Amino acid sequence: MRVTQLLLLLLATLAASPADADTRFRFPAVDPDGELFMAVPIVHMDHDPKPDPTGTTCENYKGDGLPWCYDGHDGTDYLLMWGFSTMDKFDVQVVAAADGEVALAEDGNYDRCHETSGFKVTCDGHPIKANQVSVRHADGLLSRYVHLKKGSVKVKVGDKVVCGQLLGYVGSSGNSARPHLHFEVEDAAGKTLDPYAGKNTQPTSYWVSQTPDSYGKPAARCQGAGARTAAWTGARTHGRPCPWGATPAAPATRTCP
Ligand SMILES: [Zn+2]
Repeated sequence: MRVTQLLLLLLATLAASPADADTRFRFPAVDPDGELFMAVPIVHMDHDPKPDPTGTTCENYKGDGLPWCYDGHDGTDYLLMWGFSTMDKFDVQVVAAADGEVALAEDGNYDRCHETSGFKVTCDGHPIKANQVSVRHADGLLSRYVHLKKGSVKVKVGDKVVCGQLLGYVGSSGNSARPHLHFEVEDAAGKTLDPYAGKNTQPTSYWVSQTPDSYGKPAARCQGAGARTAAWTGARTHGRPCPWGATPAAPATRTCP
């Protein structure tokens, strides 16, 4: 009986302090000098429940409207600077935003879908189907990475991935007007949630570090990166890669992303 009570107490304590165990995300792509993705606009999730036939009425996490969202958008879009020319010139890396297991991996679809008249998307006669990856995290959250380049998906269902691990490259497959990454988070029940903290969402951010500026590009730092850095500092001097497969930062900073 006493053991049972202790166990219950322990469980209650764990349940009361979930914050550290909850998944927090890094920026889900690699943009070292901030030159591959547009800072303005980042197109956020719409929290205005009213449907709008013109597609223009929306409210993002902090109450801003167009162009910071569009009607019914259920994720965050990070747009490639210069569109298709950047997509063709570079393999812009999409990476796991946190540790987890691959739950969905689709590839082989046409990746040059684009906008046509009246805000419609065409895939030039190909099916409007996205190349995409989904990752399930330890606490049940699911992160989704959509519109990837054809032939770029690097993982398969069941693979364990670590934060910062390459999943694929930015493309314009599926319902995509221009090359961009659509990043979306779902809770364990499959309900879409907005990782940004704000007046229309929740007080706590699901990003490791949500930038306070008006644009909303979060930091590219993995959850627990500080602890990992401390554990790895010595070993890095031997010139090996980071233990979780990522590329170490410049030697001066001696950190693993
Ligand atoms: Zn989107």
